Amino acid sequence: MIAIINAELVMRDHFIPEAVLFIENGKIAGYGEMRKTEIPEGCEIIDAEGEYVGPGLVDIHSHTGGEFQAWQEPIKAAQFHLTHGTTTFLIATYPRQKKEQYIETGKNVREAMKLPEGKSIGGIYYEGPYINANYGSNKKLYPWDKPIIPEDYEPIIEAGLGLVKVWGLAPERPDILPFVKAVKAAMPDVRFAVTHSEATPQQIEALMPYGMSVGTHHTNATGTIVNYPECRGVCVDEAVNYNDGMYAELICDSRGIHVDPYMLRLVRKIKGDSRIVLISDRTYNDAPKPAGYEDVFDINFDGANDIAGSKLTLEIACRNYMKHTGASMVDAFRVGSYNPSRVAGFTDRGEIAVGLRADLIIVDRKMNVKKVILDGEVVR
Ligand SMILES: [Zn+2]
Repeated sequence: MIAIINAELVMRDHFIPEAVLFIENGKIAGYGEMRKTEIPEGCEIIDAEGEYVGPGLVDIHSHTGGEFQAWQEPIKAAQFHLTHGTTTFLIATYPRQKKEQYIETGKNVREAMKLPEGKSIGGIYYEGPYINANYGSNKKLYPWDKPIIPEDYEPIIEAGLGLVKVWGLAPERPDILPFVKAVKAAMPDVRFAVTHSEATPQQIEALMPYGMSVGTHHTNATGTIVNYPECRGVCVDEAVNYNDGMYAELICDSRGIHVDPYMLRLVRKIKGDSRIVLISDRTYNDAPKPAGYEDVFDINFDGANDIAGSKLTLEIACRNYMKHTGASMVDAFRVGSYNPSRVAGFTDRGEIAVGLRADLIIVDRKMNVKKVILDGEVVR
């Protein structure tokens, strides 16, 4: 048995100060205030030295880890994020990937998840292929501006069976509904996300009966439909904000470029900490930075002055969320662990509770990761 002592436990809605937490057989076996809890003899002791102990972070949307493309090298990418406290990691595809590359993603992830080193990989986030290429980076490379046909998507569905947790698409694409129905029939638990899109709220809401419930990188790569000049229209962001059931993914970079801090506070006010999911949306791009953005260190540009994801890891995103909104450590773990677990369909992690997988991190008050425990094992 392992005992983590002198811990400030971060629960889903409160703290337990000066606490001890027990781990046995890879699971959280118990916890409580130290002064009221006896530590059995022979326990392996980990001293948290008064720092926070919370559930491991869950990054549902990231394309790379370090310089490794996640779809090609899932283990190396996941290991990189694991050292930053991400104990569950979904491999995200790029919308511009070719059919064969989607199929290869499925194959690579399936194999990686069988290996012990792939333990932190939780599955796949298909971002694409059916998006609206007017929104997002690398527009010229997008090969899917053609009719949506089963010959293309059936093998992609098959490659992702049992692995895909979230599937991002643009609801306004012609013939999206037969595709959505085919995915839903093959993967009843999948969630759909509105991604790189200028759909009307009505087009988004029409897909809710099939599981449309996530706004991909909310307020990024979404359109604005204007009914009349100088009259603000409604589009994707408004539909995500309006519908209580929709989760909003947010990329919280340090300068608040993906999401302006004021916008972040507005979204937090509307959605609350129960419907926000922090993502890294990490990519790899070495295009030069546009003028005026030379000091930006945690986001990528595509060379055509479009933003192309981030260089973030989730613990930094949590820190930025606290910085930009005034959220507490409890709230940061909620949006960085509990909510993303639920979006990805995991009920065995994402909070401190007896019987859950012992995925835990020890962090200081600035969310610097001191220790990472995966499935009851200290990995950092
Ligand atoms: Zn994207």
